[in-house]
Amino acid sequence: MRPRVVILGAGPTGIGAAWGFSRSDAFHVTVLERESTVGGTTRSFDVDGVPCDLGSHRLHPSTDPELLDVIRSVLGDDLLLRPRNGRIRLDGTWIRFPLRPFDVVLNAPKRFLVEALRDAAVKPFRRRRGESFADVLHEGLGPAICERFYFPYARKMWGLEPSQLSGTQARKRVSAGSPAKLLGKMLSVVPGLRSPTAGRFYYPRGGFGRIVAALAEASRNPHVEIRTGCSPITIHLRNGTSIVETAEDRIEAECVLSTIPIERLVGMLVPSAPASVIEAATRIRWRSLRVVWMTLPVDRYTPYDAHYFPELAIPIARLSEPKNYGDSAAPRGRTVLCAEIPYDAGDAIDRADDDMIGRRVVDALEAAGLPRPPTPSGIRSVRVPHAYPIYTQTVESAFGTIDGWLNDMPGLLTVGRLGLLAHDNTHHALRMGLDAARCVRSNGTIDRDAWARCRESFRSHVVED
Ligand SMILES: Cc1cc2nc3c(=O)[nH]c(=O)nc-3n(C[C@H](O)[C@H](O)[C@H](O)COP(=O)(O)OP(=O)(O)OC[C@H]3O[C@@H](n4cnc5c(N)ncnc54)[C@H](O)[C@@H]3O)c2cc1C
Repeated sequence: MRPRVVILGAGPTGIGAAWGFSRSDAFHVTVLERESTVGGTTRSFDVDGVPCDLGSHRLHPSTDPELLDVIRSVLGDDLLLRPRNGRIRLDGTWIRFPLRPFDVVLNAPKRFLVEALRDAAVKPFRRRRGESFADVLHEGLGPAICERFYFPYARKMWGLEPSQLSGTQARKRVSAGSPAKLLGKMLSVVPGLRSPTAGRFYYPRGGFGRIVAALAEASRNPHVEIRTGCSPITIHLRNGTSIVETAEDRIEAECVLSTIPIERLVGMLVPSAPASVIEAATRIRWRSLRVVWMTLPVDRYTPYDAHYFPELAIPIARLSEPKNYGDSAAPRGRTVLCAEIPYDAGDAIDRADDDMIGRRVVDALEAAGLPRPPTPSGIRSVRVPHAYPIYTQTVESAFGTIDGWLNDMPGLLTVGRLGLLAHDNTHHALRMGLDAARCVRSNGTIDRDAWARCRESFRSHVVED
């Protein structure tokens, strides 16, 4: 009999794993997804005829070639290579994002440039004062870039002071953490200088969500079933065969791969986790995101794919206009703006209804010096409660407690952005899923040594914007 595997969650990690299992054809796999569609945070929506994503998503050219081949094999010519055309607001001026050397020299505020260059020159003499996000970036980049960009950005994204966040947040989130890396990144996007994909990104025709949807379709076979609208209630862990209980069913499995929030997983286990693990689960923290789509009765609002707003006074972290980088068949005479607004449960952003949040977006765009948008013909929004893991020392030690305990549970693996608190890109999530599937032996047991090596390799993931 084929070993049975249950995968919890059908985002990139869960579907990456399902795809991996489907290739070997040696397992019976059931994927359980709470939402009505697959894709997780990478899923797409039709908003008034314009394909839109859950916040701006792009596939970075740094995706490893094996994965890119897999994605190409399911999307074919629908995987488009698009030019990046974003802007970032810095001290009241606009500079291109990703940063380009000549544009920075020409358009960045001169005082900021002088200070940033001075900080780069004295970097060898700066000493790290501690291990917080603020300490790591202050040592790497100096005060000018930190105070004007990364520190306000951190307050907005994670809702905490940079000194309260741990250094891990800086190391995982900031790919340009030193002057040399920053210069390397700037040069890497100059068209023609490094590679044919410099300054570009991959994007599927019809929306980013097509990547996972197509992989899910390619994974389905008589032994790989993907159930949407279906959540586990309890997981009875047994040595040998566990039972995953849903509202309708009891599914037996030799192996459970969980990509759902790690603290939720802990709460589902029977017998219960020890008190120390249950207590640790209460200390895991996430920052939430309100994604707001506004349909405007104009062909185009700006020519840019995205605007980034690091400053705290503007509640929006990023504004994108999907029509400018997505489907060329999008309707004429209207466009959709997509605003991403970080929030904490119960705060004013969470409580606002769609009209109120729409007004806040319009006011913020005007305050940022963008044209006042015409009256929207439609506003809708979605809340993403588990958008960004927050790394503080408390969270890291809580995660260590849970992770250490789960590692000893036979037949259970936690993986993915939500399962490992990994602030990662889609290609990292797909890689984690594929690797997890490869660590399940043909008898359904988990090769923990191989998994430990995979976990080590995941440590090198650094998020790209
Ligand atoms: C605003 C934003 C923009 C981003 N932009 C980019 C980008 O441009 N490029 C890029 O590469 N990456 C980007 N990312 C990152 C990317 O979205 C994630 O890396 C990726 O979605 C992680 O995949 P995952 O499967 O681990 O988690 P998720 O995508 O979160 O999937 C987890 C799945 O588990 C399901 N689930 C949760 N609880 C349960 C339950 N109890 N029962 C059953 N199912 C459950 C969820 O519904 C979801 O489908 C962005 C992320 C955000 C938030």
